[in-house]
Amino acid sequence: MNAPMTKPLSISNPHTPFDHPEFDGHEQVVFANDTASSLQAIIAVHDTTLGPALGGCRMWPYANSGEALTDALRLSKGMSYKNALAGLPMGGGKAVVIADAKTQKTPEMLVALGRHIDRMAGSYITAEDVGMSDRDLEIISTQTAHAGGTKARGLGNPSPYTAQGVYMGLKAAARHKFGSSNLKGLRICVKGTGSVGATVARLAHAEGAKLWVADVYKPNLERMVNELGATQVETSEAHKADVDIFAPCALGADLTPKTIREIKASIISGAANNQLASPDDGEALHQRGILWAPDYVINAGGVISIGLAKPGDTDDTYVRQQVDAIGDTLTKIFDRAAKENQPTSLIADHMAMEIIAAGKDKKAMTDA
Ligand code: NAD
Repeated sequence: MNAPMTKPLSISNPHTPFDHPEFDGHEQVVFANDTASSLQAIIAVHDTTLGPALGGCRMWPYANSGEALTDALRLSKGMSYKNALAGLPMGGGKAVVIADAKTQKTPEMLVALGRHIDRMAGSYITAEDVGMSDRDLEIISTQTAHAGGTKARGLGNPSPYTAQGVYMGLKAAARHKFGSSNLKGLRICVKGTGSVGATVARLAHAEGAKLWVADVYKPNLERMVNELGATQVETSEAHKADVDIFAPCALGADLTPKTIREIKASIISGAANNQLASPDDGEALHQRGILWAPDYVINAGGVISIGLAKPGDTDDTYVRQQVDAIGDTLTKIFDRAAKENQPTSLIADHMAMEIIAAGKDKKAMTDA
């Protein structure tokens, strides 16, 4: 028999996951290693009150494992909030792989990751995120049934659903700010005209909106100019465009104290993740009277398509109805923010926490 431990393990080390400032009661954090394929991944499961933790897998060349852990914890908590407000029977989780997707990704690494996800027995369901493609998800799903967003397991590419949700969000914001959800005649600047941004621009154009577009990738930009007669803007000037709605659909952190001072639009609603450079920027937008559609609410169409689709699904009617309901959720957030004179960012977080807390109460009653 082993001698009992005389001294309890210290948990005061600031580098242990339990003491991490972003830990926030995470249910499970898995450090997945496969030496043969050089896989090093962290899979964080924040909360499974509402259902299995659904969240994408990101591959990124993090400088160290601490940086990767911070990202995994922050993103998985974000997924709990996003899935709750999307009305999904899903909790929040996220996987991050410490590798450069352009130079270090191998099929063997993805197979090893799939095996690790499978060992979690469905507490975590993976999907696409930065650095991962449809093809990568197909490889992961050779090892586990717990991978969404592939054609074999559902409706495939989530981008069209994300774009549809953003379009409904634009309309909800226009209704709240201007009294009508009709985009006809409104001036909209779309920054980032990739998979989601281009579709949003097309939907708004079809309804009669006038478009301004910015993108660092010329072919995407020129396509919008030729197809929709959109006006080109420099990417660094996009947020300053003299328009009614600014739709950030490129990368994150477009909303900083400096850009917020320069924005002329009275609505900001776009697909990009993590639009606020810091939580204080939500308050700054509120102070300026700019209506901000919280990013994780408006861009939930993709996760809805993954979370609700069943293997072999071809009919997406129900999924589309749920994606369209993003507009109603945003209206509730806008109305409550106005009533309580609070930033929409804060109200969205509160509403997500309330949904999760109600789920916990319901579970406790069922378990009692
Ligand atoms: P994408 O890669 O297809 O398109 C992004 C576009 O932004 C590209 O055309 C790129 O050239 C452009 N871009 C990059 N940096 C830029 C810059 N500094 N200025 C201007 N343009 C720039 O990506 P996507 O799938 O369309 O996603 C767009 C955003 O929406 C991302 O922030 C993504 O995280 C978020 N999002 C996407 C989905 C989805 O289903 N695809 C779901 C939720 C959130």
